[in-house]
Order: sequence, then structure tokens, then C-alpha cells
Amino acid sequence: MPDPPLFVEKFPPREISVKKIKEFLGAQDAARIRAWLSLCSRCGLCAESCYVYLSNGRAPKLSPAYKVKSTLGELVKRKGRVDQAFLEKCHEVSWLQCSLCKRCTVFCPFGIDVATMLSLVRSVCQGQDMAPDKLKFFTKNCDETGNHAGLTLEELVETCEWMAEESRDTVRGVTIPFDREDAEYMYTINPREAQFYPQDIAMAAQIFTLAGENWTMPSMGWDCTNLPMFTGDRKTAGKQAEYVYSQARKLRAKKILITECGHAFRSLKFEGPYLAGYADGLAPVPVVHYVELLAEYLDSGRIKIDPAKKLKKPVTYQDPCNLSRNGGVWEAPRRIIAHLCEDFRDMAENRDRNHCCGGGGGILPMGPDYRPRRMANGRYKADQIKATGASYLIAP
Ligand code: SF4
Ligand code: SF4
Repeated sequence: MPDPPLFVEKFPPREISVKKIKEFLGAQDAARIRAWLSLCSRCGLCAESCYVYLSNGRAPKLSPAYKVKSTLGELVKRKGRVDQAFLEKCHEVSWLQCSLCKRCTVFCPFGIDVATMLSLVRSVCQGQDMAPDKLKFFTKNCDETGNHAGLTLEELVETCEWMAEESRDTVRGVTIPFDREDAEYMYTINPREAQFYPQDIAMAAQIFTLAGENWTMPSMGWDCTNLPMFTGDRKTAGKQAEYVYSQARKLRAKKILITECGHAFRSLKFEGPYLAGYADGLAPVPVVHYVELLAEYLDSGRIKIDPAKKLKKPVTYQDPCNLSRNGGVWEAPRRIIAHLCEDFRDMAENRDRNHCCGGGGGILPMGPDYRPRRMANGRYKADQIKATGASYLIAP
């Protein structure tokens, strides 16, 4: 089998700081990493679990175990003494051959966490200014403005006021309140909603109004997404999560509500607390995903769907890795679908065993240069969807 086509990004020549790599690796949980590296028995069970491997002709170099051994394994073995060409390979492997979906961990008999190890490889590259350009751009925006798009508060408020006004043609009394104290839910969004899909904010506001919800949007910490986490910039990732936590505390919100985004949920509920320095690993305010709340509204009758308007054509559902396997939320969307659709067909592998769509782990926002590789990696998922015979695919 020929090697998979590589998309090795060439960076301008630079001095590689071995000291920085050593310090970074030394600051990680070295015992755990060494244990994982030495435990791997090369049994190969993880290979068949990885959609990148399955989508690209089962090339041995795409097996999760090889991807780790040839990157982090070498970095540890060589005590960080690597050159730029080696880090360019690490860049390719950790960003384009792995979306950090963690499916291989579920199938590894030792529970070896390949995604965590490859995210350390990303951090090593990021430490040498070798992260993908678009991710660096979003990370810089987060650092400087608290949101990925670099939107001002005035722009956000103006968009929300416009959406509330438009919504009142459909649902009476819609408002989008900012910084309301003691709300049940502090609703946080993906900045691309404010920038490109403001109707998503309008629809959420209409649903909250119909449900009689006590909700608010925060004027700071409203962006729940966290691409710095996928850039490998752990410091900015922690800062980004803390913007949300601190505003929720300030407003005394009972819960933080996350929009459709799966990685935002993973970030704020599971990884954000560690990145932001909460030793117990718990978010200071409970984190709830939007589909969990919608399922509750529908099951309790707080929101009703006209049964005559149920979709008749067959539908399937894409379990996003960060919401399902890495977030534990897979029944709530199916409860919503039962209210919406007559003919639901699950994919052969579903819930926590789903395959990544190929767009996760920061790959989608990395831009058009990376598209061919992303599409190639998504081949397995495309076949999986086609096999259901569904006319529609629902995603959160
Ligand atoms: S985390 Fe996902 S993409 Fe990465 S090696 Fe494992 S299965 Fe493949
Ligand atoms: S399944 Fe686990 S032990 Fe087996 S090759 Fe993969 S990482 Fe190594």
C-alpha cells in the first residue's frame, strides 16, 4: 500500500528551540505519557477504529499507534532534539491525520489516549510558531478580544436587537436580554452565528420566549467556542474558558447554556476547567448543551410540535464526537428527533461509537488549503451516511 498523500506545510526557516520543547514536555504528566508510550503492544486494534485510516486505503502509517510513535514517541526519545522538517511532519500528523476524536481510545485495550498525546504534539508545534495560520488568527482574536471573530460588543448587541425585532413578527414579545442577573441560563453562542447566521440566535430567542425561559446573554464571555484548544495554545484556551465562567459567576447564572457547537461543550464542561486552572476539573457553573434543554422542553410539553408537520422522509443523525463520545449527550438528540420525524434510521456505528465527520479538531476552520485532505478523510463517513438510505441528515 503506498503512503498516504502528505500535505506537509512548509514554514519559513526558523531556529527550533529544543529547550522550549524539553520544558514543555517536562511540564506535562510525563509518567502518564511514558506509560502510554511503553504500554502500546502494537496490537493494531486502534487502526480499524480510526476513520482517517479507513478512509485512506488502510495505510499503516495512518494507524493511531504509528501516528503517536512517529511524533510524540520520537520527541520523547530524542529529548526534544528535532529539526524543522521533523516538526513539519508533526504538523501534518497532528492536524491533518487526526481530529482528536478519541474513537481509538474506546477500542484500545489499554485505554491509551492517542488524542491527548497528539494534542501535545500540536502544542509543541505551536510553541515553535508552527500552528496552522487560520487557527493562529482565531487564537489571537480570542487573546485580544475574548471572541474568535474579534467582534465588538456594539456589533453583537446591534445584531441581537435586529434579530429580536425580526422575531417579533413570528413570536410575540421576543427580546434578547443582556447581562440579566440570576437567570436560569446564560446562553453562549458561536461567533459565526453573530457574523454569518444571526437567524440561529433569533430562533433560539423565539424558543426561549415560547418556553417562558429566564435567560440572558452575557456581554463578555458570550463566545463559548475554543479554537485555541485545537491550536495547542493551552494558555489562551484557559483564558477563553475563564471569560465564560467568570461572567456566569458575576451574573449569578444558574447554568451556562451552550449553542449547537460540540467542541464548545467539550471545552467548557470537560477540558476548560483544567485549562483554566480549576484543580478539581469541574466547571464552576454547571454546563448544559442546547439539545439537552430542547429535549426537556419537548418531553415536558413546554414546547409542542404539531404531529401533522412531522417529517415523513427518512432521516439519520450525525453524533458529533465532542457532544456524543466526548460529551455523553447522545439520547437527547434522539428524543428531539422522535418529536420531529417519522422515519429515523441510525447509522451502523452510532452514539459513543460514531465516526468523526472529518471536520472536527479545528480542521474545518483551517480553511480551503486543507479542504482536499478533509474531504478525503471524510470518505468513510460519507459511505456510512449513504448506507442509511436517509434523505436528510440531522446534526445539532
Ligand atoms: S483520535 Fe480519532 S482521528 Fe485521531 S487517531 Fe484516534 S481515531 Fe484517528
Ligand atoms: S489499540 Fe492500543 S495497544 Fe493496540 S496498537 Fe493501538 S494504541 Fe497500541
